[in-house]
Amino acid sequence: MAQLVYVNNPANGELIHTLQYDSEEAIVSKVESAAAAFSSWKQRSAHERAQLLNSWAKCIRENRQEIGELITLENGKPLPEALGEVDYAVSYIDWYAEEAKRIYGRTVPAHVPNKRITVTKEPIGLVAAITPWNFPAAMMTRKAAPALAAGCTFIVKPAEETPLTTIRLIELAHSVGIPEDALQYVLNEGPIVGEIFTSHKAIRKITFTGSTPVGKLLMEQSAQTVKHVTMELGGHAPIIVAKDADLNVAVEQTVTAKFRNAGQTCVSPNRLIVHEEIAEEFTKLLVDKVQTLKVGNGFDPDVNVGPIINKKGFIKIKEQIEDAVNRGATLACGNGYDIDDEKGYYFVLPTVITDIPLDAKIMHEETFGPVIPVVTFTTLEEAVTIANDSPYGLAAYFFTENYKDGLYLSENLQYGIIGWNDGAPSGAHIPFGGMKDSGVGREGGSEGIEPYLETKYLSVGV
Ligand code: NAD
Repeated sequence: MAQLVYVNNPANGELIHTLQYDSEEAIVSKVESAAAAFSSWKQRSAHERAQLLNSWAKCIRENRQEIGELITLENGKPLPEALGEVDYAVSYIDWYAEEAKRIYGRTVPAHVPNKRITVTKEPIGLVAAITPWNFPAAMMTRKAAPALAAGCTFIVKPAEETPLTTIRLIELAHSVGIPEDALQYVLNEGPIVGEIFTSHKAIRKITFTGSTPVGKLLMEQSAQTVKHVTMELGGHAPIIVAKDADLNVAVEQTVTAKFRNAGQTCVSPNRLIVHEEIAEEFTKLLVDKVQTLKVGNGFDPDVNVGPIINKKGFIKIKEQIEDAVNRGATLACGNGYDIDDEKGYYFVLPTVITDIPLDAKIMHEETFGPVIPVVTFTTLEEAVTIANDSPYGLAAYFFTENYKDGLYLSENLQYGIIGWNDGAPSGAHIPFGGMKDSGVGREGGSEGIEPYLETKYLSVGV
């Protein structure tokens, strides 16, 4: 008897939907049918694949409201944010429909007269993806679109918390003619699917977005069958606010970047590093703004901050706040929860922490919640040292009007994504990804299709 999986609304704990997990045999059989579909999918012309991707994008746009509501229902984020995620998800399909037509080879001058050498790019084969719950639409399309554009077939395991968005997006893809075997999903727990995906020889690449410990495990497992990997893992973004920064811009952008998705994003600012001379003024402006945010059900049009995805996430946030307080920190605002353990919902009030020592947990561990500590600095060198004191290297932000300081910061921050006076530096046309424990590879931009391609060269004797 197949195991049932319950999908609940994190805003009130209510049951949304019941699904059946795939058995291990069913997962293997789906993997094998997706592998068998590779030879015919890769033979479609790039223009035909692009046309099908364009039809998928159009169909999602036509169903924007429905998909947005599904995201709010299973993830909890406010509906305007969810609709923004649908647009963001579609932008990856638009972008890679075009990139499909720009997979170029080249001719290399031979070292002897009687040879001709050409280099071509081929799709890598079947790609398996494991996606998280924080962007259930965009994390899927950011992987599926370049894979399908390159000529790969694709199988995805969505997060247990948010499978419905993925299922619906794939139904829409099939409805416009993307072959059912070429684009599939499987449902079961992460470790079970991870083991099958990484050990199956027909899968040539694993692409994962989620936590760093799971990413490391998948890399280890993938080594057994020498698979290619793309890993988009955790982050611990610093924001440096220089003394000449436009404080209103810095506050506005900090609040948007931090409290989006209730702080549950990998690029969410996790530390504010503010020049000592403006720290008091900046913190006051920040607290005033944060206190205007309304927490609640994402379907309420006044709500800015939704629920925490689950109890595990809530406990981690609560422990970090308690650890800070135990070390003498001050809660400048927030410090409140609305939870019901029995029903299963967890809300955290947006919280700003000051007077915090640099060795507090929140200064080093990813929070994934609507909480941010503020520390001060005297010199830019000191700010960079604090900012780089992290195993992560995904996104970093800074605010300054001084171009020399801006160049110094952008060149010395060990992060893959840098926002200078910009709290939202993401987009389908740019390479997204991190250094150090934040992962391997980039998604988006022209870089984002390369990991789905193999390089082959042909040497012809003439
Ligand atoms: P997670 O890594 O446990 O889950 C992400 C995905 O991996 C889910 O689909 C899950 O089912 C799957 N998974 C879990 N264990 C697995 C295994 N052994 N083998 C294969 N797949 C497995 O993340 P989480 O528990 O949902 O969240 C915890 C932390 O992960 C967060 O606090 C945050 O640090 C990080 N996270 C990062 C991102 C991101 O966008 N970079 C997204 C979600 C979570």
